[in-house]
Amino acid sequence: MHIIGISGWSGNGKTTLLTRLIPALKERDYDVSTIKHAHHRFDIDRPGKDSHRHREAGAGEVLISSARRWALMHENRDGAEASFEEIVQKITPVDFLLIEGFKSENFPKIEVWRPESGSAPRYGEDSSIIALATTARGYDAPIPVLDLDDEQQIADFIIGHFRGEAAPVHALQGDCFAQGEEILSARDAIALIATSADIAVGQESCPLMEGCGRVLAADMHSSLDLPPADNSAVDGYAFRHRDYLEDPALPRVVAGYSRAGHPFAGRAGKGVVKILTGALMPEGLDSVAMVEHVHLDGDRIRLPKGLQPGENRRKAGEDIRKNQLLLERGHRLRPQDVGLLASVGISQLPVYNPLRVALFSTGDELLEPEQPPAPGHIHDSNRYMLLALLQKLGCETSNLGILPDEPEAIETALRQAARQHEIIITSGGVSVGDEDHVKRILARIGRLHFWRIAIKPGRPLALGQIGSTAFIGLPGNPVSTLVCGLLFLRPLIQRLSGARQTPPLHFTATADFTYEKKPGRREWLRARYHAAADGPGSVEIFPRQGSGILSSAAWANGLVEIGEDCRYINKGDMVQFLPFSEFTG
Ligand code: AMP
Ligand code: MG
Repeated sequence: MHIIGISGWSGNGKTTLLTRLIPALKERDYDVSTIKHAHHRFDIDRPGKDSHRHREAGAGEVLISSARRWALMHENRDGAEASFEEIVQKITPVDFLLIEGFKSENFPKIEVWRPESGSAPRYGEDSSIIALATTARGYDAPIPVLDLDDEQQIADFIIGHFRGEAAPVHALQGDCFAQGEEILSARDAIALIATSADIAVGQESCPLMEGCGRVLAADMHSSLDLPPADNSAVDGYAFRHRDYLEDPALPRVVAGYSRAGHPFAGRAGKGVVKILTGALMPEGLDSVAMVEHVHLDGDRIRLPKGLQPGENRRKAGEDIRKNQLLLERGHRLRPQDVGLLASVGISQLPVYNPLRVALFSTGDELLEPEQPPAPGHIHDSNRYMLLALLQKLGCETSNLGILPDEPEAIETALRQAARQHEIIITSGGVSVGDEDHVKRILARIGRLHFWRIAIKPGRPLALGQIGSTAFIGLPGNPVSTLVCGLLFLRPLIQRLSGARQTPPLHFTATADFTYEKKPGRREWLRARYHAAADGPGSVEIFPRQGSGILSSAAWANGLVEIGEDCRYINKGDMVQFLPFSEFTG
């Protein structure tokens, strides 16, 4: 949620600007709420009203509700005024929270100023003022000056201001989601994630040395040819092929020596030059004979028969050409990519900031691993599994612990998490049991897109957003959490982090098992692949495939994927195998 204030002396038009900015931001598809902080004499309630009587009688809070709207009045009974932070917490997270008042609090503000008001603008005394909106034309100030009559320009300025921090985009475009009872296919679910989520992080510059695992925020081009000049691919003797053709067997004078970093500066004439791998080709020479193939003849050498023009010469630019596209925006850097960038002299990289993830487990039965076992309780495994997965995906994860099965606690935790993260992930509490609160709360404080997916394991998945923070509620059973984490959470994370989506590579292998399944859904079995000396390898599956059997996943080195239409797998059938290693980048 992005907070921006409108400040300025009274009578300069703060409220007018606010009322024009709200529709301007909403037209751009952002949710907007406002806070108005009033002076001490102002009272929300009025004598004579029923609500006033409730308050006078001592009610802590009075909620007035009608068909049109509701308002909660909270009595500051101990005399202390609620702090700015406490007040902001009351607001359901949205994309932009516009604030009128609270002018001495430290959050970014736009000052409204009309020269005809007769007072001087305040931006010089208040460093939280980031721009001046004024009717004065050609006014010069050390901060951006905006046209007070152009709310479109001011809205664009606000959006641009926050872009570096975290793009205030709708993490998930709600309209794309299937609603109600419809059951989605796995393929459609993955495609919807790919098209409906947007990059949610800002960018920074990162030293090359810290670049591995980061996602490029721009296309990278080479400013050089590589190699920069012709050089030798072997240790040997450089010669001119035209001279060689005249008399291949002629003993030749060794005119000099060229080493990597120490080129031969003289002229070889009709002679040869001793040369080491990577050393520059001496001027006029175009080919190299390997040292192993050359015959010494006194202080001369004789070249072997059959040498080709250009033999063992690496040509300038044969690896990379100047201006060539090396790596595309959205590419997650691997060791070889870091090497490639170093090879063309790039030392700083534009990268996306790591995605800030809030991670919770839900359930009164859950214990931390260090807690002793207790009757009716189990240890939380999902959160540790997801923490590890998110780390591999390059996220900056806040481990926010276990949420009890209590709606108020869940609601408070989700609201708080939405303020500082780009995505919230929970596991458990999304099916239809009495204690499955997550879905209901999400629908109330944000937007819910509940998915039933025709898959096993898995199936219920809650997707949505709170303000501009994405939300995914994974199923509780650990194997379902893992499979949904790999298949649905991973592409969502990639998308929000700016990373190009990479569907896992898979290969065919021979089934060393029989299996019967219901048609109409896609299944993933915990499986172990065994390589064969020649031809495709074979796969066996873990004997117990229940969604609570996490040992099956630890035993396996990947998943066998079985399509919707298949009913039986017989021994010897070809099946698709997806190695786990494919999911962790
Ligand atoms: P739920 O969807 O919350 O009813 O959870 C389904 C099953 O998953 C129940 O057996 C839970 O005890 C189990 N479960 C939920 N969350 C976790 C977790 N974080 N670690 C291990 N098991 C869990
Ligand atoms: Mg539960």
